[in-house]
Amino acid sequence: MVKYDEFGPEKILSVYDPKTGMNGFVVIDNTALGPAKGGIRMTIDVRVDECVKLARVMTWKCAITELPFGGGKSGIVADTHKIDDAKKQELIAAFAAALKPICPSLYVAAPDIGTAEKEMETFAKSNGSHKSCTGKPKNVCEGAACGIPHELGSTGWGVYHATLVALEHQKRDVKGVTFAVDGFGNVGSFAAKYLTEKGAKLVAVSDSKGCIYNSDGISFKELSAVKKKTGSVINYKPGNVLKSSDAPTVACYVFIPAAKADVIHAKNWKDVKAKLIVEGANIPIMHDIEVKLHKNGVLVIPDFVANAGGVISSYVEYIGGSEDDVFPLIEKKIVRNTQLVLDTMTKKNIPPRDAAMQIAIERVKKAEKSNNRR
Ligand code: NAD
Repeated sequence: MVKYDEFGPEKILSVYDPKTGMNGFVVIDNTALGPAKGGIRMTIDVRVDECVKLARVMTWKCAITELPFGGGKSGIVADTHKIDDAKKQELIAAFAAALKPICPSLYVAAPDIGTAEKEMETFAKSNGSHKSCTGKPKNVCEGAACGIPHELGSTGWGVYHATLVALEHQKRDVKGVTFAVDGFGNVGSFAAKYLTEKGAKLVAVSDSKGCIYNSDGISFKELSAVKKKTGSVINYKPGNVLKSSDAPTVACYVFIPAAKADVIHAKNWKDVKAKLIVEGANIPIMHDIEVKLHKNGVLVIPDFVANAGGVISSYVEYIGGSEDDVFPLIEKKIVRNTQLVLDTMTKKNIPPRDAAMQIAIERVKKAEKSNNRR
């Protein structure tokens, strides 16, 4: 059941192509700040209500990051484990062609579950506009404007900067501060890389196989080599091997969830020892638990503030910038807005997520007004 409110969703468009069997939809949540930005989820069970929620998150993420984008998300119903690559590209091409009336004017696509660089190349080609999606391969260019792949470490770079700002707020030196990372994939490994390079001490890292813990510190370089060679962080030595689910409660000052949703929950939040949590993953902690942690003196930098590096990178691609433009812009935007969130939190004595939401809502409302939409 779709819930409508004062912000949207403005449009939900269903598309079907009898020739290929493509069955998809787009949710355009809010376009006050610009065309709706959001990935294409291609799974057998992708649902409109799921994408409505994800599109709303994009509305707030783009607003808190001061990007001229609204929030969107789209879905193509297909079993990516059963179809071959040719069929997958055929469905993407049919979807892109069907969206021509609204894309890129009202919706700009990106990769999500089940879609990646190759699908973005197919999408842009079929849609006919280079601006119709981001996350295209590097060699897909229109003039000087080329694709910027999503896997450059841009989200981890943003998480790293949000961590530095939060540590400064807490008057803690990054040098020697202990930290743990849940998930050693794209987001977690880059956040760990940048923090260790700055002198922070990595004491625990988890992946799907388990968690490695060493209070004396873990070498990022050696850990990366072990992960690459053996497939898991748990083969790193020396260290104690724990369960993946132990990562959120190990002894450390900073905890960075960068894997799954809901890793700190009603049953383990009281055991959390970290004093700072920077959310790299989406919804790693339910909001009521975040509030409990806040009351317990734990600073939680919300997901849509800390993990916006990816969408900032998308924006650079959208405006025809280069990879060199990505990292400075992420740093500038994440630093500025994390600081603003922390200042608002302090001034109004409210949890950081509430502060971030107030700022994002205010920006969307202001844009609505200046667009004469209200
Ligand atoms: P990824 O697939 O590259 O890495 C995920 C990591 O999590 C892997 O190391 C995997 O082994 C580990 N993992 C899986 N199950 C685990 C478990 N039970 N316990 C601990 N670790 C486990 O994914 P990613 O791109 O790094 O994304 C991680 C999270 O960040 C996701 O929630 C994603 O939605 C969010 N996110 C990613 C981006 C991005 O640009 N990649 C942007 C915003 C948010």
